[in-house]
Amino acid sequence: MKITELFRSIQGESLYSGWPCFFIRTSGCPLRCTWCDTTYSFYGGTDMTVDEILLETGKSETNLVEITGGEPFVQTDFVELSNRLRREGYEVLIETSGGFPIPEGLDRSCHVIMDIKPPGSGMSQWMNPDHFRSLTSNDEIKAVCQSREDFDWVVSTLDDWRLPAEIPVTVSPVFDLVDPKELGQWVLESRRRFRIQIQLHKILFDPKAKGV
Ligand code: SF4
Repeated sequence: MKITELFRSIQGESLYSGWPCFFIRTSGCPLRCTWCDTTYSFYGGTDMTVDEILLETGKSETNLVEITGGEPFVQTDFVELSNRLRREGYEVLIETSGGFPIPEGLDRSCHVIMDIKPPGSGMSQWMNPDHFRSLTSNDEIKAVCQSREDFDWVVSTLDDWRLPAEIPVTVSPVFDLVDPKELGQWVLESRRRFRIQIQLHKILFDPKAKGV
């Protein structure tokens, strides 16, 4: 498995924001979001076996683990890694671009955070409602927005797709581009039960640093 970095930090996004978390960042992503803050994960990476990753995860003494990217779903050993982490008792979060379906065989007690990419990302053509229809109330849809147009697109697209209302939806502003206060207004005006997140790790640590 190609790994860009392994590190322990504070979870800055998702419903788990604020908890210490061990991050497994895989290498490679076929998407090219305009606001991507992990472009260094597109190429290269270190070959690691699932056993080696589990060993490093154990050393972190952290029960919450996130597999992120890049795009984890394009890694061949991704399902084995996720399922073994679960079997060993870790709480497992998986962040994915929304451009791929959930792989067969994945232990569905893993919490999948599936991005929905609005037009501002330049990647909305990758969004397929079938990928999102496999989500449950144990998962989460995450929308990063760089404008009111992006936010309105998320609202109307989710309406069109008629996904179960139990799937939590989080929205966040593109860091340094959208004032979180504005996003708060948009959520209130929309009357949607969206939860705001503000990339807490970029406030706690250097927002341009790797491995935070
Ligand atoms: S899906 Fe994620 S890793 Fe891939 S380009 Fe978009 S933000 Fe970057």
